[in-house]
Amino acid sequence: MNAKVRLYVDHPLGAGQTVPLDRDQAHYLFGVMRLAVGARVALFNGRDGEWQAEVAEASKRSGVLSCVEQSNPLQMPPDLWLIFAPIKKARTDFIVEKAAEMGAARILPVGTEFTNSERIRQDRLQAHAVEAAEQCGGTYVPEVAELQKLSGLLDHWPAERQLMFCDEAEVGQQLFLDVTQGEGQAWAILIGPEGGFSPAERKRLHGMAQSHVVSLGPRILRADTAAVAAMTLWQQKLGDW
Ligand code: SAM
Repeated sequence: MNAKVRLYVDHPLGAGQTVPLDRDQAHYLFGVMRLAVGARVALFNGRDGEWQAEVAEASKRSGVLSCVEQSNPLQMPPDLWLIFAPIKKARTDFIVEKAAEMGAARILPVGTEFTNSERIRQDRLQAHAVEAAEQCGGTYVPEVAELQKLSGLLDHWPAERQLMFCDEAEVGQQLFLDVTQGEGQAWAILIGPEGGFSPAERKRLHGMAQSHVVSLGPRILRADTAAVAAMTLWQQKLGDW
C-alpha cells in the first residue's frame, strides 16, 4: 500500500537508498504524523520521481528512511515560466503556491515601475513551492528565482521563448491566446502589479517579437486571480492538462 504522507527531501532516491532526516523532518514524521519504524512515506526530490520508503530509524530529532520501490516516475511540467510582480505577502504566497500546483516550471518575481513590494523572501517562497508540490502529488518543484527587474529580464530575453503578456489595457477586448502558434515551445506568462504596467513597459512589451498580448476578459482581475486565470488558459490550450 502506498504511503499517505509525502515528503520532499534534498537527497538522491533509488532502490535501497537510505535517506537521513533533519530535525524538522523527524519532528513532522514522528512528532506530528506519529509514524513509527516500518511505516511508509512517499519521497520525492524533484529529480528521481516518487519513491515509497520505510522508516528504518525514528527518534525525536532524527531518523532514517529506506527507499523500497519507485511509485511514480519524474513528471516534468511544460516549459512554462510564471513572471509576476510581488504584491502583499499573503497574495504573493498564494501566487507561488498556485503556480507550483498548476504546473509552472519556474517562478520569477520581477520589480516593475509600479511594483508595490520591493522585497521578497526567496527562501520562504521556495518553501511554499515545495509544500505545494508535496500536497498536490507533483514530482517536480519549480525554482523560485530571486527578485529581478523586469527591464533586465527583458534585456536578456531568450529568442525562442514565447511570452503571454496579460495586459489590463486590453480589458474587454477579444484577445485570446492563439492556439495555432507556439505549440510545443517554451513559454512565459507575465502578470503585472496592482498598479498595472507603465506606458513605457507596455510599449516595450508590445514591441517584442515573442509577445502575445492577451486579455483576461471584461473585468480587471487582481494580480493573484489573473495569475491563476492565465495559467488555466495556457494549460488548457498549450500545456499538459
Ligand atoms: N491597476 C490596473 C488597472 O486598474 O488597470 C490593474 C492591474 S491588475 C490588478 C494586475 C495585473 O493583472 C495586470 O497588470 C495584468 O497583468 C493582469 N490583469 C488583470 N485583469 C486583466 C485583464 N482583464 N486582462 C489582461 N490582464 C489582466
